[in-house]
Amino acid sequence: MRRIAVVGAGQAGLHLALGLRPDGPPAGAPGPGGTPASPADPRPRPPQPYDVTLYASRTPEDVRSGRVLSTQVMYGPALALERAAGLGLWEDRAPLITELGFAVADPSHSPGGGFAAPLDEPAQSVDLRVKTAGWLELFEARGGRVVYGTVGPADLPGIAAAHDLTVVATGNGPLAEVFARDARHSPYDRPQRTLAVCYVRGTRTPDGLGGPHVRVTPVAVDGTVAGEFFVLHALTLDGPCEIVLWEAVPGGPLDVWADRPGPGEVVERSLGLLRDRLPGEYALCRGMEPVDAGAALTGALTPVVRRPVAEVAPGTYVLGLGDAVVLNDPVSGQGSSSAARAAAHCLRAITGHGDGPFDRTWMLRTFAAHWEHARHVTAFSNLLLGPAPEHVRRILSAAARHPEVAHRYVNGFADPAGFAEWFTEADRAGAYLAVVGAAVPADGG
Ligand SMILES: Cc1cc2nc3c(=O)[nH]c(=O)nc-3n(C[C@H](O)[C@H](O)[C@H](O)COP(=O)(O)OP(=O)(O)OC[C@H]3O[C@@H](n4cnc5c(N)ncnc54)[C@H](O)[C@@H]3O)c2cc1C
Repeated sequence: MRRIAVVGAGQAGLHLALGLRPDGPPAGAPGPGGTPASPADPRPRPPQPYDVTLYASRTPEDVRSGRVLSTQVMYGPALALERAAGLGLWEDRAPLITELGFAVADPSHSPGGGFAAPLDEPAQSVDLRVKTAGWLELFEARGGRVVYGTVGPADLPGIAAAHDLTVVATGNGPLAEVFARDARHSPYDRPQRTLAVCYVRGTRTPDGLGGPHVRVTPVAVDGTVAGEFFVLHALTLDGPCEIVLWEAVPGGPLDVWADRPGPGEVVERSLGLLRDRLPGEYALCRGMEPVDAGAALTGALTPVVRRPVAEVAPGTYVLGLGDAVVLNDPVSGQGSSSAARAAAHCLRAITGHGDGPFDRTWMLRTFAAHWEHARHVTAFSNLLLGPAPEHVRRILSAAARHPEVAHRYVNGFADPAGFAEWFTEADRAGAYLAVVGAAVPADGG
């Protein structure tokens, strides 16, 4: 049996590890179409194709009692990957996000007013504390081996030597530094946003947006981008909730999070900022309260693309997966969907490789095929971080007037690879606007 190590029990690592330990009917149970096995079923399972060891820094109990990790909105195609792997365990409880709304705080930032459009397939956000703790328990229930503890760079040679393949999926943690930064795709040397998140209850839905949604309000001060304010619907430990997220330009007027405040203070400061900057949102959010003691997260990350393969001992290689090698700013809300795509792709590459060696060539080829998609996500995320180029302002302006443009932009979040055809490049954006008869000047006139 092939031995595979997965280091990191987050969105990507757990999806991969569970995919390598698929659930199956116990030996002697009815064949295909029969009742799937429950974890408690005492009958022996058929042999698993892979011997998987998962290295997890925290137990499920630690994860659930810890602080929130993300806002983790996932769109239709990524949810479909989880569903196909039998991992959509919270679909009937998580609010179905059916709309995205983009407001406009300052016409000089995004001219022409706001817009909203329905998603063709609903999105969902399940608190990663709920999801990763639940998946970790599922992996153990399937007989997967979990080694608890933090893996350091010095541990990797031993782990890699003991396995046919070692995949490092430790997200934004320091272990990712074993993978060299790829300067070709990493334009930043510092964070482009300071982040502040709080899971809350008590916000109100604005007129014009029906049910659960994501709404985004860019904030501009004196014509300069100061950041963005997000509100979205999610599932947390004890039921549905809302999440507020600030993406603050470092050093700007929204960047008031350096002392890493807790949930109560994040709510207080958020209300202060909203009262001053976004009175409409203040009216909607003034009743909000944190859901629990771990409801807040503040910090910053530097977007980076890394070389996907690291040589941890002479001739011994490990493969990077998810945020460990492609880390985008959350402004585009793509990291969890990308991690699911990366895991599903890696799983197919492993299972499709038969008895072939998981050598450096296989690792490079596996990442290269994934990067064909991931590069579009990185391009889109980075585009949202800078001052909006003229063609982007023209598209957003047109979206406020033309439902077709709004619909295409909103649904582009489900698969940013499609943005290359009409949004990210100026000439293609112009051609698209001309075709739909939505060509308007960037000032919205
Ligand atoms: C504020 C914020 C908001 C976000 N909002 C969204 C959003 O709306 N939509 C979206 O798609 N994405 C969003 N993201 C990004 C998304 O959460 C990540 O991209 C996604 O979780 C990445 O999955 P991953 O498996 O690569 O890493 P993670 O999910 O971070 O998992 C890494 C795991 O490895 C563990 N680990 C780390 N170091 C070690 C070690 N040395 N040894 C052992 N284990 C280790 C960690 O504890 C963790 O369990 C957001 C991120 C942030 C910070």
